[in-house]
Amino acid sequence: MSQISHQTTSQNTAEVHSAGALRAVASAVLRQQTTLLAPVVLQGVGIHSGKNCRLEIRPAAENFGYQFCREDLNADCQVKISPALAEERELQTRLSGNGIAIATPEHVFSACAGLGLDNALFVFDAEEAPILDGSAQKIVEKIEQTGLKTQNAPRYAMKILREVALSDDATPARIVFRPTPLPLTEIAVEMDSPIPVIGHESLEMRLTPKAYKQEIASARTYGNQESLIPLLKRSLGRGASHKNTLVLLGGQVSRDQSLRFSDEFVRHKALDLIGDLALLNAPLWGRVETYAPSHRFTGRALRHLVEQTDAWEKIPFPEAT
Ligand SMILES: [Zn+2]
Repeated sequence: MSQISHQTTSQNTAEVHSAGALRAVASAVLRQQTTLLAPVVLQGVGIHSGKNCRLEIRPAAENFGYQFCREDLNADCQVKISPALAEERELQTRLSGNGIAIATPEHVFSACAGLGLDNALFVFDAEEAPILDGSAQKIVEKIEQTGLKTQNAPRYAMKILREVALSDDATPARIVFRPTPLPLTEIAVEMDSPIPVIGHESLEMRLTPKAYKQEIASARTYGNQESLIPLLKRSLGRGASHKNTLVLLGGQVSRDQSLRFSDEFVRHKALDLIGDLALLNAPLWGRVETYAPSHRFTGRALRHLVEQTDAWEKIPFPEAT
């Protein structure tokens, strides 16, 4: 397929280099908390359960953060998300606390965090979030149609003060959190795959709402057709289809689909990473470098980071200089 290349993407992402552009990025950082102007509703099947879910994202008060509830079980029970709630699961994030659980919320959290939304209640009527088209595009569109409102309280960042690194014993996955001068999240994601259409891909970017919308939001989840049957045996992938997954067959993208970016796979890894970082319930002021991340590994790394209490501090975003 001629449109596919394996070049690194640092040149065609939103990375900026000049001092003036850096100041522009820094001054675009939100300094007050935000919430939605009105509820946003998402509806559709979950990629693993195959079950329909209506997910309403509701506006919330200052300092509320991201909390979820299960309308179908106990609507009064609201659980604040954190890395401690993430179970060690394959291929998906599942959060459980106070006797309720939600699954595969990462694309929704990714879109919300990517757009700079701070306070919201996620009301599920089934366990697993709708997968929609496998990316965060529709979620971004709905949030943008509804709009965000600025609240009075200052926005607090989780500022990285010293390097924290973690590798996985069982996989090549590794991650490093580093301090940065600019008050925003920088991410660098790299991956290698034996699947020819993926190969080696890498991406580096400064996370701003604009960069998220342009570079990340529309990258879809992907899966190997050959590994679908073993997945189904483990009760995963029951809702997967060509409508919500980039299907790889014989090492290439299936014939009825085409890539939205030549490096859509690593962009989706970045989308997932941003969704997992949202578990911190505060925007990260620092740089995250990761190789071959999985939800399970990233969740573990975030728990490790939170435990290193001398490695970060919660501080308000500074005024632009
Ligand atoms: Zn994903």
